[in-house]
Amino acid sequence: MKTQTVMAKGIFKLPKITNEPIKAYALDSTERKELKAKLAELRKGGLDLPMIIDGKEVRTDKLHDIRPPQDHQHLLGYYHQGDKSHVQMAIDAALKAKPTWEKMNWESRAAIFLKAADLIAGPYRQTINAVTMLGQSKNVFQSEIDAVGELVDFYRFNVRNMYELYAMQPNSSTGIWNRMEWRPLEGFIFALSPFNFTAIAGNLGGAPALMGNTVVWKPSKTAVYAAHLVMKILQEAGLPDGVINLVFCSGPDASEVVLNDENFAGIHFTGSTKVFDEMWKTIANNVRKYKSYPRIVGETGGKDYVFADSTANAKQIATALTRGAFEYQGQKCSAASRAYIPDTLWDDVKKYMEDDLNKITVGGVEDFSNFVNAVIDEESFNKLAKYIDDAKVSDDAEIVIGGKYDKEVGYFIYPTVILANRSDYVTMQEELFGPILTVYVYKENEAEETLNLLDKTSPYALTGAIFSTRRDKIEHYTQRLTYTAGNFYINDKPTGAVVDQQPFGGGRRSGTNDKAGSIFNLMRWVSPRCIKESFVPATDYMYPNFLKE
Ligand code: NAD
Repeated sequence: MKTQTVMAKGIFKLPKITNEPIKAYALDSTERKELKAKLAELRKGGLDLPMIIDGKEVRTDKLHDIRPPQDHQHLLGYYHQGDKSHVQMAIDAALKAKPTWEKMNWESRAAIFLKAADLIAGPYRQTINAVTMLGQSKNVFQSEIDAVGELVDFYRFNVRNMYELYAMQPNSSTGIWNRMEWRPLEGFIFALSPFNFTAIAGNLGGAPALMGNTVVWKPSKTAVYAAHLVMKILQEAGLPDGVINLVFCSGPDASEVVLNDENFAGIHFTGSTKVFDEMWKTIANNVRKYKSYPRIVGETGGKDYVFADSTANAKQIATALTRGAFEYQGQKCSAASRAYIPDTLWDDVKKYMEDDLNKITVGGVEDFSNFVNAVIDEESFNKLAKYIDDAKVSDDAEIVIGGKYDKEVGYFIYPTVILANRSDYVTMQEELFGPILTVYVYKENEAEETLNLLDKTSPYALTGAIFSTRRDKIEHYTQRLTYTAGNFYINDKPTGAVVDQQPFGGGRRSGTNDKAGSIFNLMRWVSPRCIKESFVPATDYMYPNFLKE
């Protein structure tokens, strides 16, 4: 294919890049009225969402329902389900688009993503919010910080980080010019995204694409609605055909085709540890098939903790737990899901949480007063209900708050607090991904032993929070818990990381910790070439030390 090379003629400065301000949606605000109108419009449904491969809409005769989790009898419409042949089409389109895309000047690639960010923050703000609210059951605040705030921040800060990465250049000595060229990877990238964040889904393909790669993107089947909109916005922002190819098919189908292709250059994954493990194994088995060693980037599960000592403030702990464990129904990888509270504080913490949780209402997203909405689907609902039922009859645990669930209208699990008598009770160890918090109450003078338990109870190390008012203790916990979390919070809830402020990712079985939205993540999508140029090349092979005395 013939490509045209356009050379940049300037070392351009970027527009000012700051975090997107979050709107409040207060009563009578303009944004609230606009969003309500958009929700009413989109609720009417009629969706017919095709895949987008090589810039073209691809439809099949296999239609799949799209229904709001909070109102599962309401049909919003359909998406077109693809199969392995569509994955192959997407790979072919990505490889075809690659030579032109990687040659495009960086400022043009940057402009596309900056424009997409402005479209999301501006004309599409209430559309992307309404789509995320209806499709993934987020309340307005949760949607605004995800689908608007974080996605816009990802697209803008990625551009700034690319600029800084490109500016990282080696030194040169006299007569020599050394340069570092930040090449994209050879081949194509596989972006495999989870249901729970529109921002993460948009970034998994977006970050590698910005760096000059082309992408096959397979979103979660329960977040197709938002993924399709993000793709349309990127197209409107000028993303050329084939740079990102959106396919709707099963994860195993997509993986089988992608991971067997010699041009597979890397995976950008966010999702569960189990799925990531399987893909890592397949990649290892296939390693001799590939032209290059693929980059394997995956942010996975969590069993995030809150640890408080007896000097901490009970009201502050309770607030952090209520927000950290129950916002977005606990379906954040960072959600607080196990807490270690000293016996001297537990009664107060419990009372404050009861006060808060009794006020919280559970329901649909169109009623803005609901703090808790539905969990993502029936499978998740059934799994969570089973954990609650088991706790109800267990000798090792009791339900102290909540424990109710109801799926008649939507998949509603009420905020639930389990008190575990054993520090290794199942819900202290496993990721549940729902609005269920388990608390282990320890004897005030056993804080040190409790830190050991905390460290060893779960295989994950994503986020964690400590509460204390003593500086020496804070310093000690911070050191003692070094490897228990990639995002560590002192006197704050363990959720709500903001791009460019708390670079996000965990260790152990929580992922490769490449910190989405930071320069470290972008480095995974390039393979630098060092170029040394000699201005007046040597003509004598001899070095002075070899001369005869
Ligand atoms: P998931 O692992 O079920 O799905 C993620 C993606 O993988 C989806 O696109 C899905 O279709 C695909 N998939 C599922 N099974 C597959 C298989 N066998 N082969 C290939 N692909 C397959 O995750 P989810 O339920 O969508 O998201 C929740 C999970 O994501 C939780 O474990 C959560 O902790 C994690 N998460 C982590 C972070 C982080 O930054 N660490 C952020 C968000 C979510």
